[in-house]
Amino acid sequence: MKAIIWGSCGSLPSPTSSASIRQKVRDAIWGARTEKFEKREDIDRYLETLPHSARGTYKANTSCVQIVADTDEYIFCDAGTGLRDFALSLGKKPSVATYHIFISHLHWDHIQGFPFFTPAYLPGNRIIFHGFHKETERAIRAQMQAPCFPVPFEAMQATIEFDIKENGANFNVGNVHVSTIKQQHPGDSWGYCFQEREKRIIFSSDSEHGPEARNAGYPFVDFFKNADVLIFDGQYTFEEATNEKRNWGHSDHITAVELSARAKVRQLIVFHHEPAYTDAEIEDIHKDALSYSAEYNQQLSNHANKPTYPQRIELAFDGLEIEA
Ligand SMILES: [Zn+2]
Ligand SMILES: [Zn+2]
Repeated sequence: MKAIIWGSCGSLPSPTSSASIRQKVRDAIWGARTEKFEKREDIDRYLETLPHSARGTYKANTSCVQIVADTDEYIFCDAGTGLRDFALSLGKKPSVATYHIFISHLHWDHIQGFPFFTPAYLPGNRIIFHGFHKETERAIRAQMQAPCFPVPFEAMQATIEFDIKENGANFNVGNVHVSTIKQQHPGDSWGYCFQEREKRIIFSSDSEHGPEARNAGYPFVDFFKNADVLIFDGQYTFEEATNEKRNWGHSDHITAVELSARAKVRQLIVFHHEPAYTDAEIEDIHKDALSYSAEYNQQLSNHANKPTYPQRIELAFDGLEIEA
């Protein structure tokens, strides 16, 4: 099983400006002034030595993650603008398919890619929204109503179903079992754990963890337990999350590290980036979290040679693929 990030930016799409691209190119050329390039591959090797902020971006599309499992049916978390990039990757004549879209919640950044999801316009396709918000169908239809969008929901010729359950319910897609947890977020949100055989990938975005997260028995430690991959809302710095942005419904990099270490998560992927930060600023916050992870693991274990968790901490970016 693996996860593919199609959209990782929080709140709204945040395309890189021409000025920012120019600065990245200028810095990269300056950094290469003593390098010798004979083949194009030499340039690729040089680019690999640069931080991701210098040769790419963390912020482009809004929330959309594909879960690739041993099934012909497609599985997604959220329908932000990343869903459109997935649709483009299918090419001009995609074959008929079934798409499962697990919705964390209905804020715009988590549904706004759906009107641009071309498989929805093709007869024969089947799309099933799974989730917990009673207003899911209304919200999906409403964002396509005039005067806000030129094409009505009714123009979509795929079969579109809404599988809305009561809190606490689980789902199954083929051999993938999906357990769920209600999260703290304005209007509520839900996290999803996808399990196939012994592998587990958890998508937990738009979820605030207040001071109670440090209590023994905090339910998310149990939900995240031994996950192979945890995709976690780290929009803020710890200072922001605990002060001026308290109760805004998002978490931070430090809490991501602590909960992952306590739950023995193998790979932590920090997701839902703050659009107001530059790529370099997001990387700086991440570096602090990496050093805190070593310190926190020492606090957790009383003697050396204990394994540390998470074993990998990475920032999500569009195009990142993570094997469970
Ligand atoms: Zn969001
Ligand atoms: Zn939200």
